[in-house]
Amino acid sequence: MSHLNDDELERYARHIVLPQVGGLGQRRLKAASILVVGAGGVASGALPALAGAGIGRLTIVDDDTVGRSNLQRQWLFRDDQLGQSKARLAAIFLEGINPAVNASPIVARIDASNAEDLLAGHDLVLDGSDNFATRLIVSDAATALKIPLISAAAAQLQGQIGLFRGWEDGQPCYRCFVGDAFDADDCDTCAELGVLGALTGTVGNFAALLAIRAIVGIGPDGGGTLHLFDGLTLTWRQIRIAADPACKACGATSS
Ligand SMILES: [Zn+2]
Repeated sequence: MSHLNDDELERYARHIVLPQVGGLGQRRLKAASILVVGAGGVASGALPALAGAGIGRLTIVDDDTVGRSNLQRQWLFRDDQLGQSKARLAAIFLEGINPAVNASPIVARIDASNAEDLLAGHDLVLDGSDNFATRLIVSDAATALKIPLISAAAAQLQGQIGLFRGWEDGQPCYRCFVGDAFDADDCDTCAELGVLGALTGTVGNFAALLAIRAIVGIGPDGGGTLHLFDGLTLTWRQIRIAADPACKACGATSS
């Protein structure tokens, strides 16, 4: 891991003074690469936090362009950028926050044919996509490549975020939680259900916190725990996901 220069020592001073991060933790963040799936509302909460924290390499995958109805929650984008590539705009925005971050846009829709190629070479995947089919594809690829996955989703006033390492003994993957029923179903898109913009930001920011904790090594690992936030009652709760021995991605029969 490379050392921190004077600019970085100043930029990350509030991290470095934290006993749980310190210079070593900051260098781990600098050495890390994260792939973020979807440059939408969850990513708008997560990506600025990751760039500010000094994650060395951020790859943003999204094939969409900015529409007016995105701006209520997708604060990476401005009103004068309608019609432009979300992935490209996000990368420019992040390098504006922190020029030390190498932000790479990939204008593509992730699917079963390209997921493993896109994920390969990253230390962590943060999935902020808006449908089960994509989330399952991303999870299966992350499990196959043994890359930790943070899956984060928001709809209406509910959010859920979890860290998964499904290839490890006794650990569930995201598919263990969801099952196989949603592989071809976009039933939960927020266009149909609606979503409170500030809630997607909360979920995305919490996902970034999980990512930073995992990379630096702060606190208990938390793998296989789903964090649920209710924006109506303003309560968080945690549920432990059980590993499914019959899971077709991580189960005992799958390898
Ligand atoms: Zn599984």
